[in-house]
Amino acid sequence: MTNNKPQHIVVIGAGLGGLSAAISLASEGFTVDLLEKNDKVGGKLNVLAKDGFTFDLGPSILTMPHIFRKLFERVGKNMADYVSIETVEPHWRNFFEDGSTLDLSSDPAVMKQELDKLGSDTARQFDEFLAYSKRLCDITEDGYFAHGLDSFWELLKHYGSVKSLQEFDVFRSMDQGVKRFIKNQKLVDVLNYFIKYVGSSPYDSPALMNLLPYIQFGYGLWYIKGGMYGMAQGLQKLALELGVNIQVNAEVVEIQHEGGRASAVRLADGRVLAADIVVSNMEVIPAYKNLMQGQEAEIRRVEKFAPSCSGLVLHLGVDTIYPQLAHHNFFYSDHPREHFKAIFHDHRLSEDPTIYLVAPCKSDPSQAPSGCEIIKILPHIPHLDPDKPLSADDYAAMRERVLIKLERMGLTDLRKHIVCEESWTPVDIQAKYYSNQGSIYGVVADRFKNLGFKNAQRSKVLKNLYFVGGSVNPGGGMPMVTLSGQLVRDKILADLAK
Ligand SMILES: Cc1cc2nc3c(=O)[nH]c(=O)nc-3n(C[C@H](O)[C@H](O)[C@H](O)COP(=O)(O)OP(=O)(O)OC[C@H]3O[C@@H](n4cnc5c(N)ncnc54)[C@H](O)[C@@H]3O)c2cc1C
Repeated sequence: MTNNKPQHIVVIGAGLGGLSAAISLASEGFTVDLLEKNDKVGGKLNVLAKDGFTFDLGPSILTMPHIFRKLFERVGKNMADYVSIETVEPHWRNFFEDGSTLDLSSDPAVMKQELDKLGSDTARQFDEFLAYSKRLCDITEDGYFAHGLDSFWELLKHYGSVKSLQEFDVFRSMDQGVKRFIKNQKLVDVLNYFIKYVGSSPYDSPALMNLLPYIQFGYGLWYIKGGMYGMAQGLQKLALELGVNIQVNAEVVEIQHEGGRASAVRLADGRVLAADIVVSNMEVIPAYKNLMQGQEAEIRRVEKFAPSCSGLVLHLGVDTIYPQLAHHNFFYSDHPREHFKAIFHDHRLSEDPTIYLVAPCKSDPSQAPSGCEIIKILPHIPHLDPDKPLSADDYAAMRERVLIKLERMGLTDLRKHIVCEESWTPVDIQAKYYSNQGSIYGVVADRFKNLGFKNAQRSKVLKNLYFVGGSVNPGGGMPMVTLSGQLVRDKILADLAK
């Protein structure tokens, strides 16, 4: 520990961000209490067993496993002893309305064969795009990820000059960045849809988001053997071994403070836990709104860090197998601009959504009874907007629209084959995880609202309050929130050393 005084840290929330922070801080000798409102750890990385089906309720794709590996290695452990991962091939199968398909593969020969279906020059264009994507990824990893840069000014200081920032392709949107290289509209739509990893729009987000394809092709696309929840279980085991005191069913209702410092947290059951440092995995805006009073000015200041989209998440158990599906599938909208405009500008449900469909039994048949499989469907939809409320009937109508579209695009009689169903709307997502307006990835990446930045990890209100998770830099998604837990350790150690 940096100073001689023992420090007691309370972490609010045991999502991946909170687990990672708790592990990273406990391994530095801090005493850590990890308080989770739900009955198990993992946050949005959640699981439900129902009628013989095992539904992964949250993430289905693991990328950048090295970020998780680092958590284990830093405490002298081997991740493989806790979590078993395997690559998925093909990465994605893409379905278009004209009946054609395109597989994305980690095998360059297969990839070339697929791209040749779109025209003889497409593979060359794609290679150039991927080199651009790698450059964006390299420069981002070097500063924003490695040093936890938290604002435009920190970025400027790190990279030296505005000119070097141009390497981030700052004047273009993601879509414009893709179109610099790719002529075929189907491939444009596919590469634009990598924005799914952060729940934003390719037309509004900065071109920097074109690092996402390299993250997938360069670091691989992974599944966790036995189901995605295995990562939460592996991290929980590691946290317990390091002495983290994990309490579930332990909701924090207040961060108490005096003299500009957090002093304790109060739980829903009335207990008060004193703290030298508080780390919140509850998102920034909900934490200021619900755990502290009088933060209206700060909430207004951070409003530009608006919520990402939400999702209509349909977990279906079906009594048939659809052989045309891969593990990860995308069914494209013929009207992508209208689709993204509906979600991010009009806050209404898209008439013709692009649909992400996961069929995990393709890699792991044990998730469903024999002869059955899981079809998980996730169209992105707007976060909750009190000015434009959507009703249960609206969500039900969208469910029907989505199922009809999938049937039209080849999943014959899908509705007739459903034998088990678990559906989540943004209302459920907000209620379960207290996310900001039901967002599923934290803060939206929008070049006009926030240049793609998220909130800073250090609170501007209390000196010893820090944040982790999707609402702070470096952002949402499993690897990023896990990285935020490691970066907060570095920030706390640096602040204590001052
Ligand atoms: C349907 C869906 C699909 C997704 N797909 C992918 C994917 O394929 N790949 C990917 O990388 N990411 C995916 N994501 C995103 C990913 O799940 C999240 O970015 C990540 O898990 C969020 O972690 P977090 O730590 O920021 O927050 P959370 O997981 O939300 O954790 C916050 C925790 O804090 C707890 N909490 C909040 N307030 C309090 C309080 N006051 N007291 C106590 N506890 C509190 C909550 O209960 C929760 O457990 C998906 C998300 C969803 C919902």
